[in-house]
Amino acid sequence: MTAIMKTKPAYGAELVEVDVPQPKEGEVLIKVLATSICGTDLHIYEWNEWAQSRIKPPQIMGHEVAGEVVEVGKGVDDIQVGDYISAETHIVCGKCYQCKTGNYHVCQNTKIFGVDTDGVFAEYAIVPAQNAWKNPKEIPPEYATLQEPLGNAVDTVLAGPISGKTVLITGAGPLGLLGITVAKASGASLVIVSEPSDFRRELAKKVGADVVINPMEEDVVKEVKDLTDGNGVDVFLEFSGAPKALEQGLRAVTPAGRVSLLGLFPREVTFDINNLVIFKALEVHGITGRHLWQTWYTVSNLLRSGKLNLDPIITHKYKGFDKFEEAFELMRAGKTGKVVFFPHK
Ligand code: NAD
Ligand code: ZN
Repeated sequence: MTAIMKTKPAYGAELVEVDVPQPKEGEVLIKVLATSICGTDLHIYEWNEWAQSRIKPPQIMGHEVAGEVVEVGKGVDDIQVGDYISAETHIVCGKCYQCKTGNYHVCQNTKIFGVDTDGVFAEYAIVPAQNAWKNPKEIPPEYATLQEPLGNAVDTVLAGPISGKTVLITGAGPLGLLGITVAKASGASLVIVSEPSDFRRELAKKVGADVVINPMEEDVVKEVKDLTDGNGVDVFLEFSGAPKALEQGLRAVTPAGRVSLLGLFPREVTFDINNLVIFKALEVHGITGRHLWQTWYTVSNLLRSGKLNLDPIITHKYKGFDKFEEAFELMRAGKTGKVVFFPHK
């Protein structure tokens, strides 16, 4: 079978021919119907510092997936051949304090599928049965593969009340775009998006943002206040990982408002925490991964509701992996929303 493999500790990846893997005990083998690129895959491709410290080539890349089960390993009794599944990427231990108290998303012994194990940028892939999520047949593979990042967006947007609320989203990369559609589908009354890229501001509008702001040219805080009778937004959702966006959002959110932070910052961030968080009595959430499995039910229900506007977010679709380098380079240049591969041509 064909697979995109990180073959060497260096920039890039290679298309390789390898044997179809065999499922071991507790694993299933899937025929990959659709798989999408995540920012993490891009970091592995670019071989940044984090990737150098974590990834052990040779390894098949990728973790966002929708596929059909073609073989099940020993001891798997809840998944059958023919099931249509996606995969949670956090492989949790089930034994630590967090797991035992229902907080699997912060398991102390988390391994990441496709980061610490072979992944799904392949025609066939192994999924640990405990990480498989059964999809309803009516959800097309190109949407089903987006459920893992949609889970990040859902946990960010729905960490507090959203219906009827005014919202600022900073960053309209793939995750921010998913956040926009989740916020609109969940009844946000006004979604303002701050994003420096012209291409991504256009995408944000197509996905459903009510107002888009270019933070390089406009005063984000003033624009937000003007749009909210001088009060600031009820909810600030950070999807950029830009220190400047964090500060602008904290200034633009109304006192006693809610802040959910998903973006990861490249270094330590300094800001006036007394005036921007404590005296404003903000409710602040750090968001990581997805709740197992509550978030998956919410994502699946949102997909089935037909209320999510995903088509403008999927900017690139590829049959086969032949053009994977083009896909990664476009993503590096910020010229994409989500990129989806259909491995079987
Ligand atoms: P991305 O880099 O594609 O998107 C970030 C966007 O922010 C870009 O479009 C960029 O133009 C924009 N941006 C840059 N500076 C800005 C500013 N000053 N104001 C507003 N926008 C600005 O990343 P992504 O794949 O969409 O992921 C978003 C963030 O979420 C990243 O930081 C990523 O590392 C993080 N992330 C966190 C988790 C988690 O579990 N916490 C999971 C996945 C991703
Ligand atoms: Zn655990």
